[in-house]
Amino acid sequence: MINQRKLEKDRRIDSEAPHQPGVSHSFPKRKFGKKQEVLWGFQRCWFAKWNWLHYSEVEDSVLCFTCWKAEQEGKLRSTSKDQAFISRGFTNWKDGPECFCRHEESKCHKEAYDMIVSIPNTVPNVGKMLSTGQSEGFQKWGGSQSFDYCSIFFLDIELYLK
Ligand SMILES: [Zn+2]
Repeated sequence: MINQRKLEKDRRIDSEAPHQPGVSHSFPKRKFGKKQEVLWGFQRCWFAKWNWLHYSEVEDSVLCFTCWKAEQEGKLRSTSKDQAFISRGFTNWKDGPECFCRHEESKCHKEAYDMIVSIPNTVPNVGKMLSTGQSEGFQKWGGSQSFDYCSIFFLDIELYLK
């Protein structure tokens, strides 16, 4: 039986980084296969390869921190949202690496990455972007309805015009 309160805590976005338990945590194993049962558990080395993996200790499942955060902040517009990594929680450890690679290449993840990682990082360079015309980053970012980005943007324009 899942402890609902702890589950909510596990899924709360109050940090800037995904939850990745330390070496003291031992990941439980799940049974896979019908004819021949095999036991698979989450592998710690996966954190190093896919740093967006957010592990829930209550559910023994992972979410994609980037997609989840973009969704929570209402920034994910993709029509093909990868719900296993946003809300359901991914547990298919047997095919983990294959599914993580596929998710990382998905439209959903790329859009979330732009919204959460790339675009905020390009904001300080707006002045430079304006002087070089409309770069790709500027176009993507120009469509954003986020108040924060807009206010920083106008502040930068003012500074640029002075
Ligand atoms: Zn993702």
